[in-house]
Amino acid sequence: MAADSASDDSKFLRQDDDFRNSGVGQADWSAKKMVWIPSEKEGFEAASIKEEKGDDVLVELANGRKATVNKDDIQKMNPPKFSKVEDMAALTCLNEASVLHNLKERYFSSLIYTYSGLFCVVVNPYKMLPIYSEKIIQIYKGKKRHEVPPHIYSITDNAYRNMMQEREDQSILCTGESGAGKTENTKKVIQYLAVVASSHKGSKKDTGAVSGELEKQLLQANPILEAFGNAKTIKNDNSSRFGKFIKLNFDVTGFLVGANIDTYLLEKSRCIRQAKIERAFHIFYYMVAGAKDQLKEELLLEDFGAYRFLVAGHVEVPGQEDDQMFIETLEAMEIMGFSEDERTGMMKVVSTVLQLGNIKFNKERNNEQATMPDNTAAQKVCHLQGINVTDFTRSVLTPRIKVGREVVQKAQTKEQADFAIEALAKAMYERLFRWILARVNKTLDKAKRKGASFLGILDIAGFEIFEDNSFEQLCINYTNERLQQLFNHTMFILEQEEYKREGIDWAFIDFGLDLQPCIELIERPNNPPGILALLDEECWFPKATDLSFVEKLMNTHTSHCKFSKPKSLKDKTAFSVLHYAGKVDYNGANWLTKNMDPLNDNVTALLNNSSNPFIQDLWKDVDRVVGLETITKMSESSAPSATKSKKGMFRTVGQLYKESLGKLMTTLNNTQPNFIRCIIPNHEKRAGKLDANLVLEQLRCNGVLEGIRICRQGFPNRIVFQEFRQRYEILAANCIPKGFMDGKQACQLMMKHLDLDPNLFRIGQSKMFFRTGVLAQLEEERDIK
Ligand code: ATP
Ligand code: MG
Repeated sequence: MAADSASDDSKFLRQDDDFRNSGVGQADWSAKKMVWIPSEKEGFEAASIKEEKGDDVLVELANGRKATVNKDDIQKMNPPKFSKVEDMAALTCLNEASVLHNLKERYFSSLIYTYSGLFCVVVNPYKMLPIYSEKIIQIYKGKKRHEVPPHIYSITDNAYRNMMQEREDQSILCTGESGAGKTENTKKVIQYLAVVASSHKGSKKDTGAVSGELEKQLLQANPILEAFGNAKTIKNDNSSRFGKFIKLNFDVTGFLVGANIDTYLLEKSRCIRQAKIERAFHIFYYMVAGAKDQLKEELLLEDFGAYRFLVAGHVEVPGQEDDQMFIETLEAMEIMGFSEDERTGMMKVVSTVLQLGNIKFNKERNNEQATMPDNTAAQKVCHLQGINVTDFTRSVLTPRIKVGREVVQKAQTKEQADFAIEALAKAMYERLFRWILARVNKTLDKAKRKGASFLGILDIAGFEIFEDNSFEQLCINYTNERLQQLFNHTMFILEQEEYKREGIDWAFIDFGLDLQPCIELIERPNNPPGILALLDEECWFPKATDLSFVEKLMNTHTSHCKFSKPKSLKDKTAFSVLHYAGKVDYNGANWLTKNMDPLNDNVTALLNNSSNPFIQDLWKDVDRVVGLETITKMSESSAPSATKSKKGMFRTVGQLYKESLGKLMTTLNNTQPNFIRCIIPNHEKRAGKLDANLVLEQLRCNGVLEGIRICRQGFPNRIVFQEFRQRYEILAANCIPKGFMDGKQACQLMMKHLDLDPNLFRIGQSKMFFRTGVLAQLEEERDIK
């Protein structure tokens, strides 16, 4: 395939009508009464109805096999004219089977983007398709959604034009499970805008260079964030272990004037522990494999095998050279304007995190007190961090703690010391990540010009239902509840507008409200307090445990419609939440610690006082004086690593997250949102394979099927008067007098003649509205004629 030939490549966007003759033809469809019946392997299978007896239906499958199915299990098949439709909202039979079938047919024709009303669904092709070239970008530039085949470029272009024309901020929200393609699509949005927004350069010669640089820097932000925030997991070789919202600011002429990135929930535990065949963050491997000679010496680097935190040594990523990636990452930082000192400072922190893992403690004096028989690793840590090793060792082994009004030194057990070191490594890495983000933002915002409007792109994990679900899953599922609420609400508003515009009467229901009880169960501050508030309460309570937290939950929410106790779980810390995507069993173990995220404040005070300005800057918001604000619960030498509020109050992880999600939602609520649902077709990273049940499960969780359910409540099929008349006039022959007749009037006459139940349709100002399935019925009648 010639990648530079857009006309050749366009078959990956849209195929001509010939394909519609394949599969079930129109004649077959109506003669054979084709339907979908459930199939264990394929999700659904095509069958033709032979006989109907009460609730039982006798059907024949393609292979000639006959089966009896309950009539409720049957889903109607769409007429062939709907084959591979680009917008599934147009399907006259709107059901799960048809949606799956349509996505599948398109996927196997390499058509990975499909609309479903407000959604754009994209199935990961797991192969390079020639649909992201400059030439393809040109095809989409300035075109309306219905003028071009479905594509992320179309969504982006329309959002961009809307932003300029309506002066309304825009957002593009990519969700999906790990490996579904959120980040790849996010990159395509940015790539598209970098081209389209810079095409204004010609007319703005004076600022052309600046804008070019900004775009280059914007494109370099990603590799830096990915080096520090992505990792190889079982599901994805380049899995983002954080969520992000990239805000691109444009001036009134559509020129990119700046950008800003926010991140959410970095999985910092990955720097100290990884599951089998998974990796820590990429940068660890890039650095150990790539740093040479002087730098290696300066960073006190060792071989892969020497680091306890890199559990499986040098795990490689297929098709990726870690040493080469190190060079590229450093180059990206240079383009971004990071100074030499900054780059070395960053690498010193990365090296320290690894070195912290090599500090070993022994048990002494009846296991009461930890000792550090060999301080080589500690010396390296302190050298890299610019702090005194004796102070550091004392801070870890016998920290000063506030007990009552006094400050005393308290010996730590081996477990406590190990815990403190791990917490320090995680906090150090998280602070580095936050610093990088702030640094990237400083560069991207350097124009210091407030844009006229913005386009934001959200790349965040979709609903997670694992075998073992913890605090992290609750946070991500809570996020998805709120995003789904935004979707339902948007859909309601837009539908309402369309009905109003067309003068149609319909009882409006805001389906966004459906999600409110679950959201409240999680975030309500009091009367009664929700899950996060109860967790916070327990964190302040000296004798609280994870179990007492779960018990409190049970007592408070027993009768809540979205809360339940798992039936057969022996585990006492288990509880369930009924999310919109399904019931999730959570395991409350370690939630108190996860929420408090305790950190040894003796050590952080040292870091704040480091001789290395970079390190000092990283810890500038912690106290230099130790033991003054230690709270009762945290009296075991630790304070939450989370930042403090202005009043000096500790903020829990839950509180901080709720707050940042709240801000994000306020931002999104003030934008015109565009929803991208990324779908993973199989768990083997294979091209050309689609696991039907896996896809159905995602369609359920990501709200596509929910969107269809909402659609079905109204009149989802719309057809303009002229088109309706053209296609179905044959059914109302002779009822329209010869000569000119206004479209609406003609349709009114036709409908009168067709004698349909008035509840099945509405006649608007410019188009006809139908309930789901009605057009299929008309198609059938048309065939008989
Ligand atoms: P995670 O939640 O783990 O970060 P993700 O949804 O961001 O997952 P991506 O990293 O975007 O997933 O995609 C995973 C892999 O799938 C990519 O590395 C790439 O190989 C492939 N892929 C995804 N989308 C496309 C695409 N449009 N074209 C080609 N390959 C793709
Ligand atoms: Mg990703």
